[in-house]
Amino acid sequence: MGFQGAPTRTDTHRHVPFAYKITFQNKNFKRIALCAHYDTTIDTPGASDNGSGLSVLLGLADFLSKKELDCSLEFIAFSAEEYYGMCDEIYIRHCGDQLPYIIAAINMDGIGQKLGTTTVTVAKGSEPFRIAVKEQVKRYPGILCVPPIALSSKGVPNLAHSHWDSIEWISETKLMEAASIIIDIIEELTHY
Ligand SMILES: [Zn+2]
Repeated sequence: MGFQGAPTRTDTHRHVPFAYKITFQNKNFKRIALCAHYDTTIDTPGASDNGSGLSVLLGLADFLSKKELDCSLEFIAFSAEEYYGMCDEIYIRHCGDQLPYIIAAINMDGIGQKLGTTTVTVAKGSEPFRIAVKEQVKRYPGILCVPPIALSSKGVPNLAHSHWDSIEWISETKLMEAASIIIDIIEELTHY
């Protein structure tokens, strides 16, 4: 398995930049989409929102392109998440007849904060998959499974969107841990 084709630039909206994607051009075969947004809010360095997610996306693209897996992988860097939140919709439209072949989408956002806890949320999925993810999470003492709600809505403090969101608050170890559980989940998904 390897990358085929050059990165493509997709025009998304006249006023919005672009979504870049690199695709394994293995059509009509089950596929896992891995994604992270690369924009951030004004007046923040954006280290954990979402420089860290993007760095893990790129690291996984490098690592997983050398692995033999029983599925295709697609790596997508989304723009315009913070203010428009529309590139994912454009992506879905762009998928066309390939959409049914996407068995899962894994999004990386806000990971690797030194003082934070890496969390995993299954936004939607079958019960057996939910249980399988919980089992994977149990193997990582630094990671928590949480329900699909924004922690900020529960008063949990967060560096995101502040001037504190800088690289000195990012832990390389936590990024490696996040990458590792994503690889485990991908391997789990290839059994479905
Ligand atoms: Zn974000």
